[in-house]
Amino acid sequence: MITQDDGSAYSKPMLSTGFTKNKDAEALVMSNAVQMSEQLNMSIRTQTSVQNIDTEKQTILVDNETIEYSKLVLATGASPFKLKFVKPESDRIFSINDLDDYRAFRTASQGKKHVAIVGTGLIGCEYANDLLNGEYEVSLIGLSQHVLDTMLPPEASECVTKSLSDAGANFYFERSVVDIQETVDGVIVELDNGEKISADIAISAIGLAPNTKLASESGIETNKGITCDRSLETSAKNVYTLGDCAEVDGMVMLYVLPM
Ligand SMILES: Cc1cc2nc3c(=O)[nH]c(=O)nc-3n(C[C@H](O)[C@H](O)[C@H](O)COP(=O)(O)OP(=O)(O)OC[C@H]3O[C@@H](n4cnc5c(N)ncnc54)[C@H](O)[C@@H]3O)c2cc1C
Repeated sequence: MITQDDGSAYSKPMLSTGFTKNKDAEALVMSNAVQMSEQLNMSIRTQTSVQNIDTEKQTILVDNETIEYSKLVLATGASPFKLKFVKPESDRIFSINDLDDYRAFRTASQGKKHVAIVGTGLIGCEYANDLLNGEYEVSLIGLSQHVLDTMLPPEASECVTKSLSDAGANFYFERSVVDIQETVDGVIVELDNGEKISADIAISAIGLAPNTKLASESGIETNKGITCDRSLETSAKNVYTLGDCAEVDGMVMLYVLPM
């Protein structure tokens, strides 16, 4: 197994339950790479990127070393869309999609009171709920009329909106964010109607794009995700894909269950 991160085993949905369950990033780790490698009797290379796949020779290029495979599984995940005005090195505006992101967010949230969340989809709502449980003030900004509008029928979506609102969430619906300025002690989120929301830190939860670059640069067919058939085999023989990066029957499903 080869991974770009530190190889810690954790349940990603737990990243949005940290305040509710009183667990920081370290407490969410179930086992580290060494323990997992012993448990599963496999070798795990951490902090390592696969640079290229040669689908004819059935090899991958890792740190200038060529490794042969008989079967290869691409489970490269997805990356958050970034708001174009957010600096990559920002320590006030966070996209949280892995344990390192969560660690940085938890550190920044210490001693803070008000979190602005851009995006009213699954991740935005999960963080709103968790932060409210952690007694933060929460402001949610979204393009739609209600939360989770692409996932739920209107009645259910209204119901979730009401529950979060009753728990104290402030909503800014049918609004887009045109800028987020970082000030000495916080952020100012500017909306398309000119309204400005002051908060201590912000979360950007505006969606994810499947990581297809490694596959496409290696000549494997991609569309929204890495395309595969119902047995999860890609256009390249003996190369399979699953998880957030996979596209099956034109669908990319960014949830645990379809994995
Ligand atoms: C906060 C949060 C809450 C969520 N809540 C839920 C929920 O309640 N229910 C639900 O169903 N889903 C939820 N999800 C979604 C779910 O967690 C994901 O769908 C799932 O974890 C994706 O797993 P994956 O293995 O495909 O991708 P990832 O977990 O992203 O793993 C991708 C791996 O690929 C590695 N990688 C990428 N490119 C390379 C390369 N070139 N070389 C080497 N390694 C590479 C990365 O280092 C990483 O280890 C949530 C997600 C988040 C962020």
